[in-house]
Amino acid sequence: MKDTYRHKGLRKNLVEEVRIKGIDDERVLDAMMKVPRHLFMDTGLQKFAYKDQAFPIGCGQTISQPYTVAYQTQLLDVQRHHKVLEIGTGSGYQAAILIEMGAKVYTIERHRELYLKTQAFLPSLGYKANFFYGDGYEGLESYAPFDRILVTAGATEIPGKLMEQLKNYGIMVVPLGDSSSQVMTKIVRKGEDEYEKTEHGRFVFVPLLKGRSL
Ligand code: SAH
Repeated sequence: MKDTYRHKGLRKNLVEEVRIKGIDDERVLDAMMKVPRHLFMDTGLQKFAYKDQAFPIGCGQTISQPYTVAYQTQLLDVQRHHKVLEIGTGSGYQAAILIEMGAKVYTIERHRELYLKTQAFLPSLGYKANFFYGDGYEGLESYAPFDRILVTAGATEIPGKLMEQLKNYGIMVVPLGDSSSQVMTKIVRKGEDEYEKTEHGRFVFVPLLKGRSL
C-alpha cells in the first residue's frame, strides 16, 4: 500500500480537473488532494484511480466519481467537529474526505462484506470513523441528532427518519429520483417541523435499498 510522488502528481491533476468542473471550496479540494483514492480500489483498477469516474468496489457497488464526491461534500458545508452521518460506507473514500475536513463520522453500510472490509481498511490509513452494519433508512437514532447527513446512494423518497435525526439548522444532502438518474437535493432543517428543500443538478448513483444484505 504505497502513496508515491507519481500518485500525488496524478491526484493534483484530478483536483484541478474537479476545480475546472466548478468545485471552488478549497477545504474540499484540499481533502481530495490528501486522500489516496487508489488505495480504496482493487489492485487491478488502481491505475484508473485518478480518472474522474466511478469504479466497481464489489457487491455490485461503486466508489463514486470524484466530481460527485466533491459536489456533495461542497453542498454539505462541513465544519470542523461536525457530527456527520453518512449513508452508504462503500469503499470508505467519502468518509475519508469528511474526516480530513475535521468531521466526526458515523457511517452505515447495508452490505456485510463491504462493512467488514472498510471498517478494517480505513483505520489502517489512520482514518477513524464509527462503522455500522445496517439499513441507512433507519439512520442512527441513538447517536442523533447530526449536524450533517450525507446519503451516497440514490433514494426514491426523502428518508423520513433521517429528517428527524437532523439538528436544527442542520443540512442533509440526498440524491432523489428513480434508477436512471437523481436530482441532488439539499435539505436544511429550519425548525421542529420546518425544512427548506433546494435542487442542484442531476447525477447517477447506485440505488439506496431497504434492509440489510448479507
Ligand atoms: N460513499 C461510498 C459510495 C458507495 S456507493 C464511497 O465513497 O465509496 C453507495 C453505497 O450505499 C453502497 O455501498 C451500497 O451498498 C450502500 N447502500 C445502499 N442502500 C443502503 C442502505 N439502505 N443503508 C446503508 N447503505 C446502503
